[in-house]
Amino acid sequence: MAVTPEQKPETSAILDAVRRAARQEQFLEVVTPEEAQRRFAARIDFAPLGAETLPLGMSLGRVLAADVIAPVDAPPFDRSNVDGFAVRAADTAGARDGAPKRLSLNAEVIACAVDPAIAVEPDTATAIATGGVIPRGADAVVMIEQTELLEDEATPAIDLRRAAASGQFISYAGSDIARGETLLRQGTAISSREIGMLAACGFAAIAVVRRPRVAVLSTGDELVEPGQPLRPGGVYDSNGAILAAAITEAGGEPVPFGAFPDDEMALEAVMRSALRACDIVVLSGGTSKGAGDLSHRIVSRLGKPGILVHGVALKPGKPLCLAAIGDKPLIVLPGFPTSAIFTFHEFVAPLIRARAGRSSEAAKTVTARVPVRIASELGREEFVLVSLIAGDNGLIACPNNKGSGAVTAFSQADGFLAIDALAGALDAGSAAEVTLIGDAVRAPDLVIMGSHDIALDVVVGALGEFHARTIAVGSQGGVQAASRGECDIAPVHLVDPATGIYNKHLVAPGLALVPGWRRMQGFVFRAGDARFAGMSANAALKAALADLSVLMVNRNAGSGTRVLVDGLLQGARPSGYANQPRSHNAVAAAIAQNRADWGVAIEPVARMYGLSFLPIAPEHYDFLLVEAHRERPAVRAFLTALRDETVRTRIRALGMEPY
Ligand code: AMP
Ligand code: MG
Repeated sequence: MAVTPEQKPETSAILDAVRRAARQEQFLEVVTPEEAQRRFAARIDFAPLGAETLPLGMSLGRVLAADVIAPVDAPPFDRSNVDGFAVRAADTAGARDGAPKRLSLNAEVIACAVDPAIAVEPDTATAIATGGVIPRGADAVVMIEQTELLEDEATPAIDLRRAAASGQFISYAGSDIARGETLLRQGTAISSREIGMLAACGFAAIAVVRRPRVAVLSTGDELVEPGQPLRPGGVYDSNGAILAAAITEAGGEPVPFGAFPDDEMALEAVMRSALRACDIVVLSGGTSKGAGDLSHRIVSRLGKPGILVHGVALKPGKPLCLAAIGDKPLIVLPGFPTSAIFTFHEFVAPLIRARAGRSSEAAKTVTARVPVRIASELGREEFVLVSLIAGDNGLIACPNNKGSGAVTAFSQADGFLAIDALAGALDAGSAAEVTLIGDAVRAPDLVIMGSHDIALDVVVGALGEFHARTIAVGSQGGVQAASRGECDIAPVHLVDPATGIYNKHLVAPGLALVPGWRRMQGFVFRAGDARFAGMSANAALKAALADLSVLMVNRNAGSGTRVLVDGLLQGARPSGYANQPRSHNAVAAAIAQNRADWGVAIEPVARMYGLSFLPIAPEHYDFLLVEAHRERPAVRAFLTALRDETVRTRIRALGMEPY
């Protein structure tokens, strides 16, 4: 297709973008993740940055830049550990109940901070408090409880009924920290414990490794800063926030530059100033084919040596670009949130940790079984985010199939497993090594897998200290997980097409049905749409089918709502029928945003989107219970919560009718 001069400018701009997109594959020279790491490490300095001195109170979480040698002893003097009397141990020899030993008291009381003036001569003792300085001559302390005070004598004295060993109840100078010893080693992360040790030695400030300053930039015409209203077609810049936080977690100092439109000149200018101001520059977005690989083009102009890697054989994360401008690393992450954070953790976090002087984190792994077959693309190492749950025969790794555009995929996962570039799939039942993300796995007390509903959050919220994990896999996925015993409870809303009855047909040996609540489904349309306003659901449906300009939005096969829709349509196939999103929310959003005119969804969701609603029939949202798990405390707590009057009132407030 040639662009003729007569064509409208917009058309030729679109064609340009399409051509650039087609060319992008040529720019990509896809290398293995190992090769990418090797090229990056060959050009980029991973050594810790220099030192800076910080007040002790600000050093928490930082890394010591040098060994710390103790400048003083702790304790700084021989110190009493109890309230009692400082004595010469030899004077107490042979003291017992029948034959107490009498010592006269010196005219001094050694409270804390008192510098003793009187030596303990033979057969004398000096009163001393916990923390007091052991006076000259004394070599032991006896506890006040083991003495008897004789105040009536001419000179005050004490009787001892027990002999003291030399050194008893004394902490000697330097026994805790000895002057000249290496107190803390370079590279130690400073926690409250280290701060305590440093303070005990009198440090008010300490030399720590400087944190790498990491510029965070996002690009995309669609990006909206959080806090601003979302415009049509806009999405919030989530990468900027998650990357800034992940940089802090890795020991860096994020420098947020914000989100920029896909404007080459403007973006190039900010990237140059980011390179001047920071040690590392991280940009996300502008990488997919539609963008014509904007970011890569800009990076290729910024300076030498330039792009080291563009394209890595991993999924998610293929369009990753690693570059060096002078000695500064510049990394372009894919825009899709899961891809961005994944490649950040693989390629950027280790660099930040190293430059911040932190020891590299040994990855923690566990072995788990995969419950279902996971397909994978040949020729790319594929990473699959998984949730870990405790099965009857060890850990089970449930794949999270939200896709790389999902923001929640990474945060809701416990870890990830890798499928080899040469493998086409991981078979159901096979064991896989799962690399944990963040802290060790805390196995949930209750696993709920199936269809999600906002009222479910109310029940889960009433479980007290029980830790529940809900994994949204849809009703069908829930039925399968329950039949394999992988969850405790599966929320479902599936209608039996033969009888029109909800959920009863799902009961099988080992599974019980626990009634949940009903959600009214109805004909949903934009408020004020004169074509349907004021009608019954039936009349509105007739009107919709009669008008060829009306567009519907359907639901996915297998959903209860789809069965209802097909029943209503009785074989009719109005335009929009092929548009089959997977949730009530997606149906409501399509109508609210004018991408469709009507659909069937539940009332609370229709209300949330400000849509009008004409009731048709209730949908039954119930729970399949794995009988073998019924007596587990968290399962019992869930069943109790379902019957709880406060919980039921709150469910009603959301527009559901509990049984
Ligand atoms: P791109 O790499 O710019 O082509 O973006 C790929 C996808 O990621 C698009 O759906 C973008 O809307 C999305 N995306 C890019 N940058 C961000 C961001 N900072 N926050 C959230 N989503 C983003
Ligand atoms: Mg973009």
